[in-house]
Amino acid sequence: MLARTLTAATISLLVCAAVLVTSSCSRPRESEFHEQILALGTLIDINFYGISAEKAHAATGEVRAVLEDINNTWHAWQPSLVTRINAHIRAGQASEVPAPRLELIRKSITMTKLSNGLFDPGIGALSELWGFHSDTLPSGPPPDRKKIMALVAKKPSILRLHIEGSKVWSDNPATQLDFGAIAKGYAIDQSIARLRALGVKNAIVNAGGDLRAIGRHGDRPWRIGIRDPRGAGVLASVNAEGDQSIFTSGDYERFYDYHNKRYHHIIDPRTGYPARGTRSVTVVTEKSAATADAAATALFVAGPRDWQNIARALNLDRIMLVDSDNTVHLTKKMASIVHFELEPPPKITISDQL
Ligand code: ADP
Ligand code: MG
Repeated sequence: MLARTLTAATISLLVCAAVLVTSSCSRPRESEFHEQILALGTLIDINFYGISAEKAHAATGEVRAVLEDINNTWHAWQPSLVTRINAHIRAGQASEVPAPRLELIRKSITMTKLSNGLFDPGIGALSELWGFHSDTLPSGPPPDRKKIMALVAKKPSILRLHIEGSKVWSDNPATQLDFGAIAKGYAIDQSIARLRALGVKNAIVNAGGDLRAIGRHGDRPWRIGIRDPRGAGVLASVNAEGDQSIFTSGDYERFYDYHNKRYHHIIDPRTGYPARGTRSVTVVTEKSAATADAAATALFVAGPRDWQNIARALNLDRIMLVDSDNTVHLTKKMASIVHFELEPPPKITISDQL
């Protein structure tokens, strides 16, 4: 969650924070504004360039409303549309879902098919069993192996969800929805759509390092930092302009250690256990933030051996995967845009296929 958007404003804030605890920092330039919203359980940063303070502030208010609506609709464990649908699925009943809400469900089904089921928001019962359906992190021990195996054997999947008109139901009562791996991306897409409707041309909506950037930062591109999965700092940076989503899934976001083993929140639907072999995956794409979000999760599960096949299936060409040995795997196109900030730079392998 700590990857940073390296705009002049945030850099100056970081520098100030590092040097002084309370003191005045030099203010960013007039047409550049930084706003923050607490939403979706995280701090959302919005950077604006080239508009007035009043307009930036008003636009932030509108984005706040968009994010609150999405949070209230898609939350996986607090009362929401999702918890209502899940209760109905457990009871073998159908749910009425308003048409605009079907968009994210349909998008999720598409991403599940394309990722060969490595991204699958139908495995909510597994996340719950692991204790991740809580505002506080579990502390271990991991769940009973038999319980995990029994749940995996029931093959829960969003592909067992059926949509008929406004009715949504599942023929598999073990299917429980959890859009945690795509809702943030969807929320950022909706936020950018609202900003554009308000005439905003240059902005970044950034949920703890997962972001979509539109336009540019004046006479230069936006500069985006990607977090080092095993340090507090920035591993690498890329420039973004036009319309780009940059999303990272990492094993450092939500996890607990038990007997020197890390149990994190990205579950391999095939095993029911946290996916092994990967520390983080970053996706850069023009497609959409929802696509980038779901793809980063799928590629994380695919791991260092299989990620290239899933990348091809998802038609993505800018990917960085940091494996559990800290080797950085890059597509050729990612290698051409990424700049490593660590000294010495990490061990790198460039894909011979992508
Ligand atoms: P984050 O948003 O925390 O950076 P992700 O986008 O990878 O990370 O989403 C992880 C969340 O998605 C988990 O907390 C859980 O709610 C859900 N999830 C876990 N494993 C999967 C999976 N294989 N497919 C779809 N959703 C998953
Ligand atoms: Mg994701």
